Amino acid sequence: MTVREYGIWIGGEWVDKASKVERTSPAHGTLLARFSEGAEEDVDAAVAAARKAFDNRSIWSGLPGSERAKAISRWLDLIVRDTEKLAKIEAEEVGKPIRFGRGETEWAVELGRYAAALAYQIPGDLVNNIGDANLGLVTREPRGVIGMITPWNFPLVTLFQKLPFALAAGCTAVIKPSELTSGTTLEIAALAKEAGIPDGVINVVSGSGRTVGEALTGHPGVDMISFTGSTQVGKRIAQRCAEQMKRVGLELGGKAANIVFADADLDSAVDGVVFGYILNQGEECVQGTRLLVEEAIAEDFIKQLVDRSKKIRMGLPEDEQADVGALIHEQHMEKVLSYIKTGVDEGAKLEIGGGRLTDNGLGKGFYVAPTIFSGVTPEMTLFRDEIFGPVLAVTTFKSVEEAVALANDTKYGLGNGVWTKDIDKAIQVSRELKSGTVYVNTFLETSVQMPFGGFKESGVGRENGMDGLLEFTEVKSTFIKLGKRALALPHTV
Ligand code: NDP
Repeated sequence: MTVREYGIWIGGEWVDKASKVERTSPAHGTLLARFSEGAEEDVDAAVAAARKAFDNRSIWSGLPGSERAKAISRWLDLIVRDTEKLAKIEAEEVGKPIRFGRGETEWAVELGRYAAALAYQIPGDLVNNIGDANLGLVTREPRGVIGMITPWNFPLVTLFQKLPFALAAGCTAVIKPSELTSGTTLEIAALAKEAGIPDGVINVVSGSGRTVGEALTGHPGVDMISFTGSTQVGKRIAQRCAEQMKRVGLELGGKAANIVFADADLDSAVDGVVFGYILNQGEECVQGTRLLVEEAIAEDFIKQLVDRSKKIRMGLPEDEQADVGALIHEQHMEKVLSYIKTGVDEGAKLEIGGGRLTDNGLGKGFYVAPTIFSGVTPEMTLFRDEIFGPVLAVTTFKSVEEAVALANDTKYGLGNGVWTKDIDKAIQVSRELKSGTVYVNTFLETSVQMPFGGFKESGVGRENGMDGLLEFTEVKSTFIKLGKRALALPHTV
């Protein structure tokens, strides 16, 4: 297998670095890629390129929105052309099955298409009722150079919830992808050049958070940091940005609950809950990691969940039929396994799974079996911590009020699911839930028009939808004194 070699991408050119980060497959243990390891001076060069592309308005920020939209669309066409290649890289580096790599690439393109359309119509206001001698304009201007820091679980989608929206608004970008999964980010940056997006508009500096990430968040030439990752690092970034009053967008962790009422369509609910806890090996910020199920149906519902979970196919990235892949690295697998052990130690009942899987060709990878615990109480670690693995914690409730209280009993607030045929109850519960997204009779289903983001410690700001675009703009009020009216028309008809 050929090992992919990458430089970093600055001002439309590859820059090779002597120091490399090696990425080995979390499924096979083989070497996949060598990424150039950026340093502080590379961040300086990338910010200078992005600054130039932004400050010279004729390059990008001052173009008609329609021109930016067309350039973004040409770029997306190339991404579509290269879907198979990108999906393969994504699957191999993350450890997810190939069909999810494809799905992720397609969703990234969908986000991009929507963002490109928004470039035609960035909203503004005209204030015309402030006296005949005055006129007010409220305009939205691109924020500037955006530092984007992305994680390893969905490298393309987390990037495309930011990048095309920022580009549509007229911003330029310096991106730091996760050092484990930088491949697709570097690939799509080079495709932007092929599509005619001007040099310097998109720059990518791969490398560690400690070096490249810190240099980016502290750089005075960066106007905003848009980050997806852990709440812990998000807090650090918010503190660093506050020193320079830099704008921040933070998409952080979660501890979503699926609330299943006895009157739900239970077949669909079983599907939704299983999908919610295993998607992307559970390495997902809106993972449905808690199930709150009405006591009257709990026993039977758990049995159905276990039966459905037995049918989940674990597989290598190239396995076209696989449902679940490998965890990102050994240390993370150990962390997930230690959470499972804690669950047992704290007295939860292990219904299925609970260990590493090594049979059927998975022995070189970091595979953890889909795991369900019942009897989980709010004090338990399984109920509280973001595990980021295929582990479901089941808790029962007796009333609507108790269900809502349990769902909200977390420091996170990214997403929750409600399952009931009673639409009044669904809406009532949805209003009470402290989360940025509520799914009703479905889970993790959304559309690009819908904003995404968190309450509480799940983040700041919104991605996607019109709100996602507006995050990358500053509001300017222009108050115009018109002076004397030139024409004094008689007030007669
Ligand atoms: P991190 O939050 O550490 O990493 C996310 C990104 O931030 C990576 O690109 C990372 O770089 C970078 N980074 C790390 N430290 C800094 C810093 N000081 N300044 C700027 N950038 C920095 O997540 P982890 O990869 O360590 O995962 C740990 C846990 O975080 C997971 O188990 C999960 O619970 C949660 N998580 C949540 C995600 C979400 O979607 N909300 C996504 C990923 C993780 P580097 O390349 O060095 O890692």
